[in-house]
Amino acid sequence: MSGGEAFVTLATTNSYCMGATVVARSLRRHGTTRSIVAMVTPNVSEQSRLDLQSVFDEVITVDLMDSEDRLNLSLLGRPELGITFTKIHCWTLTQYSKCVFLDADTLVLCNVDELFDRDELSASPDPGWPDCFNSGVFVFRPSLHTHNGLLEHALQHGSFDGGDQGLLNSFFSSWPVEDISKHLPFIYNLSASALYSYLPAFQQFGHDAKIVHFIGSVKPWSSSSQREGGHSNMEQFLSLWWREYRSNTESSAA
Ligand code: UDP
Ligand code: MN
Repeated sequence: MSGGEAFVTLATTNSYCMGATVVARSLRRHGTTRSIVAMVTPNVSEQSRLDLQSVFDEVITVDLMDSEDRLNLSLLGRPELGITFTKIHCWTLTQYSKCVFLDADTLVLCNVDELFDRDELSASPDPGWPDCFNSGVFVFRPSLHTHNGLLEHALQHGSFDGGDQGLLNSFFSSWPVEDISKHLPFIYNLSASALYSYLPAFQQFGHDAKIVHFIGSVKPWSSSSQREGGHSNMEQFLSLWWREYRSNTESSAA
């Protein structure tokens, strides 16, 4: 496997495992030739872990507390960085030479293996502030050196948004100006906010979407009572998500 390439996602709770399952199933449905890896935390249930093992090539348990003491001490005062630190753990997957990280709340709509032609750090613009990239989909090169750099940067500067996106944008700060090939088209990380901020563009280009990202506090697996009447275009992606989730449940039960 050394030198191979992988899609990587993360789930720190059982409900995010539902999302991770859909990420893996949708990648397989569209015939990826790359490995598919999930990072999970120890609190994830045995059942969720088994479910993930049936669709992922590798399920890796990552424990915040296995980092060095100094880091742990600093983290005690910065609990909000916990999930961020878990996510950047993906840089330690040095058994792979290149990876594509996908948030657990993404849905892959076609084969996207061409993403491996890109270099670190490639990502799509964030719809809220397009000079920042959205950290739900990004191409990276595992490296302990980079991982250490990210930890140091987080401990020294924190994250301007409290999450991984703020940290990654200030660490890879040349992204907006340096190399256009590191700007992934928006269709690799299409979020519903595009519907509300630029509906005509969504109507013109939305059918080219390759990866949909369900950003925000209400996720596809959230109870429907939390959901406001969504836009019909997004409802279509939502029902696709459920179809993928159920296809997984049925095939693993068979
Ligand atoms: N995540 C997780 N558990 C959490 C929150 C986040 O595992 O409690 C992971 C998961 O992979 C998720 C990613 O971190 O997709 C980023 O969080 P989220 O997608 O909720 O943020 P958004 O995209 O809505 O800004
Ligand atoms: Mn997300």
